[in-house]
This record gives sequence, C-alpha cells and structure tokens, in this order.
Amino acid sequence: MRVRFAPSPTGYLHVGGARTALFNWLLARKEGGTFVLRIEDTDQARNRDEHVEAILHGLSWLGLDWDEGPLYQSEGVKRHEQEAFRLLEEGKAYRDFATPESIRAEASARGVHPSSVARERAALVTEKEAASRIAAGKPYALRFRVPPGETSFTDVVHGDMRFANEDVDDLVILRSDGTPVYNLAVVSDDHAHGISHVIRGDDHLSNTPKQVLLYRALGYPEPVFGHVPLILGADGKRLSKRHGATAVGDYESQGILPDAMVNFLALLGWNPGDEREVMSRDELVEAFTPERILKKSSVFDLEKLAWLNGRHLAQRPSSTLLPGVRERLAKRKEVDAARTADDAWMESLVDLLKVRARTVDEIADQAMPYVCDTLAFDEAAVAKHWRKDPARSADYMERTAAALSATEWSAAALEEGLRGLAEEMGVGAGKLIHPLRVALTGQSASPGIFDVLTLLGSARSLARVEEAVRLVRAM
Ligand code: GLU
Repeated sequence: MRVRFAPSPTGYLHVGGARTALFNWLLARKEGGTFVLRIEDTDQARNRDEHVEAILHGLSWLGLDWDEGPLYQSEGVKRHEQEAFRLLEEGKAYRDFATPESIRAEASARGVHPSSVARERAALVTEKEAASRIAAGKPYALRFRVPPGETSFTDVVHGDMRFANEDVDDLVILRSDGTPVYNLAVVSDDHAHGISHVIRGDDHLSNTPKQVLLYRALGYPEPVFGHVPLILGADGKRLSKRHGATAVGDYESQGILPDAMVNFLALLGWNPGDEREVMSRDELVEAFTPERILKKSSVFDLEKLAWLNGRHLAQRPSSTLLPGVRERLAKRKEVDAARTADDAWMESLVDLLKVRARTVDEIADQAMPYVCDTLAFDEAAVAKHWRKDPARSADYMERTAAALSATEWSAAALEEGLRGLAEEMGVGAGKLIHPLRVALTGQSASPGIFDVLTLLGSARSLARVEEAVRLVRAM
C-alpha cells in the first residue's frame, strides 16, 4: 500500500487538508504502507515557498511523518508532456489551435457542448495544415478525446460511482504554453510514484472520472479512490475563516496539543465504530479503516476540540507541558520569573491546573495568581465573598489563618485544622473556604484550597490573608 498527501502550496495547511493527510497517514501506519508527500507546485502564479514551509511544519507538528518526499510535481513536467504527446500519437488526444475562450463562446452561442466545438474545429485542421501552423509557431493545446460510454469506479467512501462520458469535457491536458494540467499531472505522478490508494477531499470527486479515463487511456492500473466529505462550520456552511481559525498553525499557537488535534481531526467524518472519543495516536492507528469514513459532511465543533484537548492535557505528564506554559508566562511582565524557574514547584502547579484547563493558554492564565506577586482580584468574587459582609469575612479569615498557622503545612493537616475550626465555630467549612480562596487567588474558583495552600507555602499564604483582612476591613 502506498498513499500520498498532495497539497498545493497556495495557502497554509488548512484543517481540511490536515484531515486528508491524517487519514492517509493512519491508513499507511495501519497497513504497514508508505506515506508519500508530494507538493503540487505547478501553479506558478499562486505557489509560495512560505506555504511549503507552513505545510511541512504543520505536518511535523501533528506528527504525520512522511516516508518519502517531499516530492515536487514540477520535477515531473517532462514526463507529463511526454505522456500528453503519447496520447496524441495514439489518437487519444488532439491538437487544439483555438483559444478556450473562442470555443466557449461558440459553444454557448450554438447551445452545444464545448467538446463538440473543439472536436469539430480540430477535425477541420488537416495534418498538412497542422504541420504548417506548427512550423509557423502557432500555439496549440492538447485535448484529451473523451471516449463514448460510461465510466465507473468504486469509491471506498461512496461506493459505486458511475458517470456518463458525455458529461465530461474533452479536457485540456497540455496548455498552449506547454504546461501540464492538474488532471494529467496527478495521474502521471500517482502512477510514477506507485500510489495504490488515493484518499482526498470530496471537492475532487468531479475530477475523478477524468482521471480514471486518463489512467485507462495511458494503460495504467487505477488506484483505489476514497473521497472524504467536506468539513462544515456550525452553521452548516463550508468551513471558512468566518468560523474561526482554519489554519492548523493557529491551533498550535493557541496551545492545542498535537495529539488532541489529531484525535479531533480523526473524528471529523470517521469513528472507531464504538463509543470511544478520547483516543491516542496508537489507538487511532489500530482502529482506522477507511470503510468507516462517513458519507455525510462533518461539523467542525470548536467546543469539542477544546474538550478533547482538556482530556489530552490531563493525561500528559506535567513536565512535558511545562515548556509551553513557561513560554507563555515569560511574555507577561507581571510574572515573577524566580517562581517560574523552579521546576519541581512549577510541575506541581501544572499538576493542579491541567485537570481544569482545556488549553495550555488556559493553564498559563490560571497560573497567574501563583506566579505573580500582586494578585488581580475578580470583582464578582470580591462582591460575593467579601463585600456582602466585610466584618464577618475579615473575622473568618483571621481565625482561619490563626488555625492554619498552628498546624503542620501539609494538605491533610491543613484540612483537618480548617475543618476543626469550622466545627468549633458551628459553620460549614465552605463559609471559611470561600473568603480564604479570594484572599489566596483573587478568584472564586481554583484547585482544591488545601492544595493551593501547600503550593503557595505558609509565608506567602499567610501574607496574602493578612493583606486580604486589611482590604476587607477598609470596605
Ligand atoms: N493538489 C490538490 C489539492 O491540493 C490535491 C490533489 C489530489 O489529492 O489529487 O487540492
């Protein structure tokens, strides 16, 4: 089995392209096949080197390593040309001296198919006439002569596909400037690269009958085709920038993990046939079969991506998340660099936060109360837990601090101390915990309060409570 991903470097790696690459990669890894990367760079006007770079980077970030390539379509131009001329010699293609515009104009004026006009005009040019035009340097294109009948092929996703050949234009295979056209180049390359399975987007489905006809005309065996349905935005329209980021690189910078992105993309239009959703790369490889690719379009659900990312984050060792968290914190000037330098302490912070966050960005945001000297207070938290009854809140915090400072500074001992105090005071532990949480983190939500206390340490925790009491007394 040899599969390929064949992007045109006319834009960045789009999530749709990434999913196509992933399905091919999964198939190759599942079947012990070869994954070939081919850059289809024949559209000179729209190709950009930076797009090639972005595509290679995006694939590498996703961990979709290719076994061969990158090959470049432009390397095969001579071969494309030779094959087009071979079809001419074999009578399967013809010279067209007319411009495509004049053919279209005549076809629409007469209400006939452009192919009939092209053929009629070509038939009027005798061999002798053609030779003299060529000698005079008149440009011509080569058109493929679509044979009569019907073309059918089996698509792994869509099943049996059947097309009437009369609906297929006599396509140009070599332009009058000598450059090959996509449909010929792709057939020629896939054959030359020994591709056995072509899995690509549904948007190519209309090209496939033309390509099948070309395979047959050239005498090449056809690969197995599979066309993957489109990805839609939440509104049911084709996914575009309006729906949010569509470039894979944007998700990388948002702190989405490659494993989560791969998991998410795999589930866009495919499922493992059971209820599983959170899946590792190995599990995906093991479960993948192209037969289970769905026929209908799938919806790009950002909430689901965030959720999956959260699940993957929680499973990752904190040490592997630390570089991304640090990189983000380093850009914020309020952060106390000395705190973030301590590996063990940072890892325990990430341990606490990763189970509550959905992205590395969120971990960095939630880390702020622990890595900054000055707390930013959330107004709603202050209103709810301090301002409603400042005198009582201050009193509770003071008594809590006193009880805590009398115990050993470990989560278990602190919990025992606080619960003991609550019991003694005849109040629920929550009554003491809420104002304390605002004092320690500035927020109304945080990891478990006893974990927060141990993470911050006694000196810092008690100083924060003291400062909170001062603020609340002044309310
Ligand atoms: N280069 C084509 C594209 O980017 C894909 C060709 C193919 O997969 O056959 O749309």
